Amino acid sequence: MKKNTQHIIDSFGRTHNYLRISLTEKCNLRCFYCMPLEGVTHREAEKFMTTEEVVGIAKEFVKRGVTKIRLTGGEPLVKKGADEIIRELGKLSVTLSLTTNGILVDRFIEVFKEAGITSINVSLDSLQEDRFNAISRRSHFQKIRDNIQLLLDEGFGVKINVVLIKGTNDDEIVDFVQWSVREKISVQFIEFMPFDGNSWNRDKTVSEAEIITTLEDRFGAKNLIKLEDAAHSTSRNFKIDGALGTFGIISTVTNPFCDTCNRIRLTADGKIKNCLFSNDEADLLNAYRNGDELSPIINVAMHNKKAGLGGLKQLDNETINQHENRSMITIGG
Ligand code: SF4
Repeated sequence: MKKNTQHIIDSFGRTHNYLRISLTEKCNLRCFYCMPLEGVTHREAEKFMTTEEVVGIAKEFVKRGVTKIRLTGGEPLVKKGADEIIRELGKLSVTLSLTTNGILVDRFIEVFKEAGITSINVSLDSLQEDRFNAISRRSHFQKIRDNIQLLLDEGFGVKINVVLIKGTNDDEIVDFVQWSVREKISVQFIEFMPFDGNSWNRDKTVSEAEIITTLEDRFGAKNLIKLEDAAHSTSRNFKIDGALGTFGIISTVTNPFCDTCNRIRLTADGKIKNCLFSNDEADLLNAYRNGDELSPIINVAMHNKKAGLGGLKQLDNETINQHENRSMITIGG
């Protein structure tokens, strides 16, 4: 296989060095905005990347200049061999991180340390147990809270991912930010996004502007400090004056940030997805299994990447009703 160090640059000149790998379409939660009510179609195991294939394909991307890898799912930690994958990816010259629902975290603390993982995103959409159970259709609230505390006690950086949905949990914006005042965490408010089977409606999206207004009313505008955002950051970050932690807003729907996009997605069934909303995918898994070169496929897939939103002009009901995409659980966010 010929060595190829050429970076992955799309036709808009964006360099892609951040790979998000979905390890599995399985999960031990059933969040209604992610897992369609009818679940996901069961497919045979051989349709999905094995441990070796995840690591092998990731290595090909690292040869092409990928320097950051995030593991997602479904729930990445339910993947058989997740510990081995994390250890092996930890040996590559990348920043490795993970987005998890937190339920199994206590079993992986040593694996995370061995792999050099220092920061972890934990999804928690409510601070109210009953409401959390209603959103996730399971009852693991306390376990997740305990594991978040365990991660903090073990010295990991912790980001709390909160998908804000109008009429579901938007009355907890202040509570989450107050948590960031008293704890060294980073709360990430994520605008509710349209995916297959999640009954998305633009009216249910809580915009960045609404979040800021709510917080200004509670904390006073002068106490909301805008922080500098890292290059390619998907979130706009802030802190309350004097707080231990911070909060950020990921506004894909109302304020997309595609100009600086550096993200590539690899789905659990080994497809390269050049954008969260693009339904134009290319198969890397079968090419890898046939011993074919992956670079030509990666090049074409990334060359076809649209300027933004997978080629959609905006994310509104009319547009989305005509757009086919995967469910969130089969992309990994
Ligand atoms: S919508 Fe697509 S192009 Fe825009 S930031 Fe997300 S992945 Fe990148």
